[in-house]
Amino acid sequence: MSLTQRDHNCIWHPYTQHKTALPPIGIKKGKGALLWDENGKEYIDAIASWWVNPYGHSNPYIADAIYKQLNTLEHVLFGGFTHEPAIELSERLMKLLPSNQSKLFFSDNGSTAVEVAIKTAFQYFFNKGIKKSKIIAFENAFHGDTFGAMAASGISFFTNAFKDSLLEVVRIPVPVSGQEGNSIQAMKEVLQDNEVAAFIFEPLVQGAAGMVMYEPVVLDQLMALCKEHDVLTIADEVMTGFGKTIKIFACDYLQQQPDMMTLSKALTAGTLPMSITSFTQEIFDAFYDDDVNKALFHGHSFTANPVGCAAALAGLDLLQSDEIQESLKRINKRHQEFQLQLNQHPKVKCTRVMGVIFALEIKTAGQQDYYGSLRNQLYEYFISQGVILRPVGATIYILPPYVITDEQLGRVCQTIIGALDKI
Ligand SMILES: *Cc1c(COP(=O)(O)O)cnc(C)c1O
Repeated sequence: MSLTQRDHNCIWHPYTQHKTALPPIGIKKGKGALLWDENGKEYIDAIASWWVNPYGHSNPYIADAIYKQLNTLEHVLFGGFTHEPAIELSERLMKLLPSNQSKLFFSDNGSTAVEVAIKTAFQYFFNKGIKKSKIIAFENAFHGDTFGAMAASGISFFTNAFKDSLLEVVRIPVPVSGQEGNSIQAMKEVLQDNEVAAFIFEPLVQGAAGMVMYEPVVLDQLMALCKEHDVLTIADEVMTGFGKTIKIFACDYLQQQPDMMTLSKALTAGTLPMSITSFTQEIFDAFYDDDVNKALFHGHSFTANPVGCAAALAGLDLLQSDEIQESLKRINKRHQEFQLQLNQHPKVKCTRVMGVIFALEIKTAGQQDYYGSLRNQLYEYFISQGVILRPVGATIYILPPYVITDEQLGRVCQTIIGALDKI
């Protein structure tokens, strides 16, 4: 039996309507930006396996670090115990994070990193005797699928079934070009409500919304307004972190510093599930007390898994290497060339580039559903051509592993042009 058939008998996939979706492709192995399925067909992974894989599949440097750590200490509980990989990773990240970040809290995935941030925001005020239980988030935001993260997310079909059970979120427009004034005005109005604890945002690029981009200056203004009103700011860098914007973090483009940051996805170099929520000293201090009840009672079985930390440390070595730093600039340059080429295309409404992220919107008559028929048609075409791209609605984006070669990236671009010609 094929992997696809065996899978059909026992597995329920994420974000999948099993009645209408294509059967999943059984992948046997990966190397660099390439993957091979059980029939030997080759695919270019042009979206870094959901934005997690910066340094290529089966990277020997990462594999070696993981293997060594597995043979030294695979895991130990993190309540009451600590270990060198977590400490070393924290020390190294502290040098790279905005200078106001001072304590790191570990969990397992992007959604839990966001849960930790939201819970901390509420308890920060609770510990000070202040009642605040609402958050501000952008329209079409995506912060994950657990309850708090889902509440903060604004892509409605992800959350429709649960909308009566979610915490209260006030939504403001994304400050895309032309909308900056509306966004700032909406923020000023929301900040009149003194029950708002925090503002959570994807800095500069909203990934799941279809790589929607906006400028740092307006985010600086929004963050400054929050500071004036004692509202904590949470920069969700789960997608943007570790080089996607060329700088290590999207927050490196800002003048303001967030109170908290969430990191995951590329954190462990595309290998193991792990995430981090980082905090200012001021937030940590609001939990530091003789009263045990003021502590943050949150944790996960695999908190700060040493193997995940070892992978993350090896990932930082690669990210800071000349080779990868050059690659980030090379990919960005290629994207800009592709953008110029497509700006003339009759079927392209607009294009966007930030770091290694490229996006284009197709001109369509009406609104396209996130998982609508245009999207499915495009997805199936790309797969048939051996290119993994997952369009959202009418948006096609590329977010490749940083090790993708020019030749491979060229093939991805050619395939996109082929798809535009076909529709
Ligand atoms: C993917 C993502 C999350 C959720 O991370 P998971 O590891 O999938 O739970 C949260 N925030 C942003 C910005 C993301 O892109």
